[in-house]
Amino acid sequence: MCAQKTLVMKFGGTSVGSAEALTNAARIVQDAKRDWGRVVVVASAMSGVTNLLLDSASLAATGKVDSLPQAESTLREKHFAAADALLRDETARAQTKADIAALIQSLVDLCRAIAILGEASPRALDAVASLGERMSVLLLAVVVDESGIPARAIESTRFVVTNAHYQNAHPDFDATAKRTRVALFPLLDAGVVPVTTGFIGATPDGVITTLGRGGSDYSAAILGAALPADDVWIWTDVDGVMSADPRIVPAAQTLPEISYSEIAELAYYGAKVLHPKTIRPVVDRGIGLRICNTFNPSHPGTRLVVNAKSNGKPANGRVVKAVTAIQRQRLVTIEGRGMLGVPGVAARAFAAVASTGTSVPLITQASSEQSICLAVPSENAEAVLSALEKSFAREIEDNDIDRVWATDDVSIVTVVGAGMRHTPGVAGKVFSQLGDNHVNVLAIAQGSSEVSISFVVEAADTEKAVRALHSLIVAG
Ligand code: ADP
Ligand code: ASP
Ligand code: MG
Repeated sequence: MCAQKTLVMKFGGTSVGSAEALTNAARIVQDAKRDWGRVVVVASAMSGVTNLLLDSASLAATGKVDSLPQAESTLREKHFAAADALLRDETARAQTKADIAALIQSLVDLCRAIAILGEASPRALDAVASLGERMSVLLLAVVVDESGIPARAIESTRFVVTNAHYQNAHPDFDATAKRTRVALFPLLDAGVVPVTTGFIGATPDGVITTLGRGGSDYSAAILGAALPADDVWIWTDVDGVMSADPRIVPAAQTLPEISYSEIAELAYYGAKVLHPKTIRPVVDRGIGLRICNTFNPSHPGTRLVVNAKSNGKPANGRVVKAVTAIQRQRLVTIEGRGMLGVPGVAARAFAAVASTGTSVPLITQASSEQSICLAVPSENAEAVLSALEKSFAREIEDNDIDRVWATDDVSIVTVVGAGMRHTPGVAGKVFSQLGDNHVNVLAIAQGSSEVSISFVVEAADTEKAVRALHSLIVAG
């Protein structure tokens, strides 16, 4: 491969989560550096660390700091154990541990401040959440460096420029491209591998932001677009994108190829293997995307392609390619016969929902217009209900709207496959499969691209529904 080609590789939490994983990751970087002139590494926090950091901040917001020493020692133990096991150079090891200790001290300071204020602002939460990636890159950079490939840790806050929408910040692609080149080209030109923090960026004023949970995949795509890279490889803990989450369906199989529209639907509807925002920046610029397994690097994993070979018909003749689920949703319904023909009800409903900052993964409306039904994440349901009740207060009082209510927790189960577009009867087959397995369907929606069909089912039926639908893929 041409020496000037650029590869961005992202290692997820499990892929940097232990000494063994870090060793694998360093070997993968070594191999890549042989074939690619310029390699940029993006790392997540070690597995479990972001949750631990955010839990500490939430406890602090309620005034509880008693468990901070426990969090401190867990973080120290996790990072230091890897440093002790892997770093041979005594000076580098001592320096890495001191730098990590300073970041752990920042957690303590931030949590104490949060406890005094009695509140964790989104901005403070981003400062806390950023610490995980800032620690992990210190380790990974030295491990790679000691493996013989010159590497340097560099915080993405220096070049990923975002708006100030804390916890879900949006990158400024132009500013990011300029700064990324200034920060990374000198390293790349010198043959050094930059090892940079996923998940985080900073406002133009330098305040730390995060891109949303699971956002390191997105970081890799942002940097891929900024450099630009020829390829972006996402290294995770499974053999690529599979026909279902292997934790739910052990028989799930790797999809060697998947089209952009299919992976977009899968990611959007809950397949955690790829953050949904990852796709757009790479597709827009024609950058290759591959998902592969840090713990099984010789497996080719999944390649994203414009049109999967199996687009029309998968190899096994099944049109459904994959099944996925999003859990912890609630179905909010606005219903009332007086809504019939009242203009603008849907627009007002969505404006009310939008005012709460909630994203809506699924909408259905009965043709009679007597109800509008939307799925929202459970944690947002109460805020959505009160926004809707406020917005429709008059209609509720006049009995034009009978009620605005939400179900208990439900799940959205989605089947994905580009072949469904041209194949009649898929919805029927999928429905009967759910019926045969006694899964009650509460609502249904078809993706506008016709690449997916989604069903809302009771939370307790989630795994049963996923397994039943997956058997449509593997059965004969
Ligand atoms: P990372 O830390 O590497 O980003 P994640 O935990 O975010 O890893 O994503 C990988 C996980 O996604 C897998 O361990 C798997 O359980 C889950 N997953 C859900 N759906 C799928 C799917 N269709 N194919 C592969 N993995 C999936
Ligand atoms: N560490 C961050 C998270 O846990 C980002 C990521 O892993 O992608 O959400
Ligand atoms: Mg992830």
